[in-house]
Amino acid sequence: MPKVTIILTCYNKPETVGKAIESVINQTFQDWELLIMNDNSNLKTTKIIKSYLNDQRIHYYNSEIKDGDRYKTTRYATLINEAISLSTGKYLSYLTDDSEYLPERLEVMSEYLDTHPDIHIVYSKQITRKLNENHTLIFQSTRQTKGVLRKAANLVDHCSVMHTRKAMEVVKEKYNNYWDDDPKHWHNADAVAWARLNEFYLFHPLEKTLDISYKTPYSFQTLNLYIPEKIPDGVIIKGLSPDVYLVDKQKRRKITEGMFDKLKYKKGKIIKIPDPFVFKYPLGSPIDDTILKNGKIPNQLLIKSSNSPNIYYIQNGKKRMIVNAQAMKRYHFKHSDIVLLDPVVIQRLPDGPPLGMKIMSHTKLPDGALFTCKGKFYISENNCLYPIYYKCINRLKYSMNDIVKLHQHELDYFKQGPLITWNHLKK
Ligand code: UDP
Ligand code: MG
Repeated sequence: MPKVTIILTCYNKPETVGKAIESVINQTFQDWELLIMNDNSNLKTTKIIKSYLNDQRIHYYNSEIKDGDRYKTTRYATLINEAISLSTGKYLSYLTDDSEYLPERLEVMSEYLDTHPDIHIVYSKQITRKLNENHTLIFQSTRQTKGVLRKAANLVDHCSVMHTRKAMEVVKEKYNNYWDDDPKHWHNADAVAWARLNEFYLFHPLEKTLDISYKTPYSFQTLNLYIPEKIPDGVIIKGLSPDVYLVDKQKRRKITEGMFDKLKYKKGKIIKIPDPFVFKYPLGSPIDDTILKNGKIPNQLLIKSSNSPNIYYIQNGKKRMIVNAQAMKRYHFKHSDIVLLDPVVIQRLPDGPPLGMKIMSHTKLPDGALFTCKGKFYISENNCLYPIYYKCINRLKYSMNDIVKLHQHELDYFKQGPLITWNHLKK
């Protein structure tokens, strides 16, 4: 049985995963097993991983997770739990596909645990490097150790930790599993795991820098920042692949490149989010040439035909006539956003309630508009106003220039939904 088990979780990081694996192979201490937990990565990534599998100490596991199931648990925690139960080492150590160990990492840590049998958890300093889109270094710092920790949560990254198997078995006795993989912990499942460990053990510092962690624009934490649990309809999203989707009635409709321009969507409005949250929205009908025949015109579009001055707003698959120029102005609809469609296509669309300037008790608000009243912000959907946390407004790329001002008595006409906020803030 090897002394140390290293658990490497991988998902679509072809640029860095090879370096992570090599950093284990190049350790000064060689009595280890490496469990590569591939979360069903794309072919490019999987090929790179597979090129290392002839080493007998490297074991490979593919979760075969379906994309539509990715959001259901914190994936890396699920993989780590799976790995711990497959592992045989006396000590457990974690690695992610965008990090690397410095050559002494395993030697220093395992030796310390060997010579201090009462200590179950050690951690070390970490170099963090921030890279831009082109993988050029833009910032580097060192995460220092902070003494013996009773509360390591959010202070120690999991790539800087080694602990005994025993420590995790004690956690499992209490909680029935090792790491908590509840999806609400996507952003910091390691902090939650440390809180469990800290109930029984302290984290002991080793005054050496033993790993490097990279943050890229594609790191989960970067992509996840201020993304609310439910992305409102009308927002345009993109994951790691080049595909771009409109969130429409809580489904994701792929927008083809030609249609993107034709329907006057703007590249600047695309928000990049983590893959698991892209796949959370079930696939809807595509936004391609077929919409002109099947009438599935995307909601929240401004349209007009060449043979009539009428302008319509698409809502619930119906066309709502915008009654006059003041109504256009009231909701900050722009003439430059109007999409010209064939009169036949427009005619076939059923009529919805017209959209006037005045906001009254019977008014049906346009979906997906940003409102403000007394310093608070709201997004409309199904005639309900959802308060939204201001950081989420920017993150979802709503434009503050298009904000619709409401008086209190106007606001009072409408029901209010739950606050749209960032999950992490609720904890
Ligand atoms: N990960 C995963 N499945 C996914 C997404 C991410 O297993 O669907 C893993 C990823 O391979 C990495 C870890 O989760 O080992 C953390 O992801 P990332 O490094 O992107 O996030 P960070 O916390 O560094 O921002
Ligand atoms: Mg990372």
